[in-house]
Amino acid sequence: MLEIDVSYLISKPKVGAAGKTGLWRQFKPIVDEDACKCCKVCVLYCPENVIEVVDDRLTIDYEYCKGCGICSNVCISNAIEMVKEGLE
Ligand code: SF4
Ligand code: SF4
Repeated sequence: MLEIDVSYLISKPKVGAAGKTGLWRQFKPIVDEDACKCCKVCVLYCPENVIEVVDDRLTIDYEYCKGCGICSNVCISNAIEMVKEGLE
């Protein structure tokens, strides 16, 4: 499989004037690890650059994930479900 390393292309989020963007979130992306193929498409599309694949496992930095749902929309394996915050 083609390996894409984009870590050097995109900056990591940090606290700015608006604080931690995770506080904006209404819906939280929850990963179905059995369905995830680790293709990294969601990593490429996340506007906050908060998704990483570590040891073939997807991790999301919820302190900065703002819950936009783009990762869920681009996943062709339907491995990310957006769940109302507090109900996950
Ligand atoms: S796009 Fe879907 S299958 Fe690919 S890494 Fe993200 S969650 Fe996993
Ligand atoms: S919901 Fe948006 S900010 Fe959060 S991980 Fe998915 S694409 Fe990134």
